[in-house]
Amino acid sequence: MKTPSVDLFTHEECLAHDTPPGHPERPARLTAVLKRLESDGLLDELCTRTPAPASKQALAGAHDPRYIKAVERASPQRGIVRVEQDTTMSAGSWAAARLATGAALEAVERVLDGASQRAFCAVRPPGHHAETAAPMGFCLFNSVAVAALAALQRVPRVAVLDFDVHHGNGTVEMLMEHPEALVCSSFQYPFYPGRLQDVQRPNIVNTPLPAGAGSAAFRAAIERDWLPALERHQPALILVSAGFDAHKDDPLAQMELEDDDYRWITAAIVDAARRHSAGRVVSTLEGGYDLAALGRCAALHVAGLLE
Ligand SMILES: [Zn+2]
Repeated sequence: MKTPSVDLFTHEECLAHDTPPGHPERPARLTAVLKRLESDGLLDELCTRTPAPASKQALAGAHDPRYIKAVERASPQRGIVRVEQDTTMSAGSWAAARLATGAALEAVERVLDGASQRAFCAVRPPGHHAETAAPMGFCLFNSVAVAALAALQRVPRVAVLDFDVHHGNGTVEMLMEHPEALVCSSFQYPFYPGRLQDVQRPNIVNTPLPAGAGSAAFRAAIERDWLPALERHQPALILVSAGFDAHKDDPLAQMELEDDDYRWITAAIVDAARRHSAGRVVSTLEGGYDLAALGRCAALHVAGLLE
């Protein structure tokens, strides 16, 4: 089989989103991912691209314009300000958040244009907890939801698959009224964020798993819940909220996945994309807070996208 063309979107200004000392969502996460992609020899196989920041107009495709302005106004000249219980902004955050969303938007454009087949966005801050008009859980703009709604301007149906250990409450909130967007989220339960995880809609597939679930329960749940939903939905594009905090080494959660589970889930996603979506996958980095596990598992994910 011919190797697919895979874009890697990243930007050094995503490192300039500073968080307070001891905060788990720190610049070193992105460095760990990029270093591991390099040491695994993956950078040579990827087309590295520098995104432009998402415009306010593009963000308003999914976010409340008043919220976008409020984020811009909250952006400090120096120091770090808290905008929500767990979410802060530094001088570099406004640009970093728009670059993270801009990466997902450009990745979708290129994949739908046929310029590439798949993409991984190595960016931060993450996005899947951000709601239409609220920051939450380290997230300012919901890159995957903005990209999904932009994609729906061009294709009839999309799917968002979220394997971060935390429920993608923001993505559910922003897409639940859009039946043409399927959202599947696996998450530790009961656990943070504790919002919108009981939503009953045909296009929302919530897959709760108990602390300590481990590989076998995770894989069985994905096979039971996600794969039939994808079969029914027939998305023209699969977007991925790629969080690596369900790993057993992660300090924030207890789902106890192994490195190989990230190889497995990526292969399952690529297989579904080949069957339903002409192979098209756009993945963006969400959580993952043990630097070594994050680097290894992100590299396994990217290697899977290259299959
Ligand atoms: Zn997470």
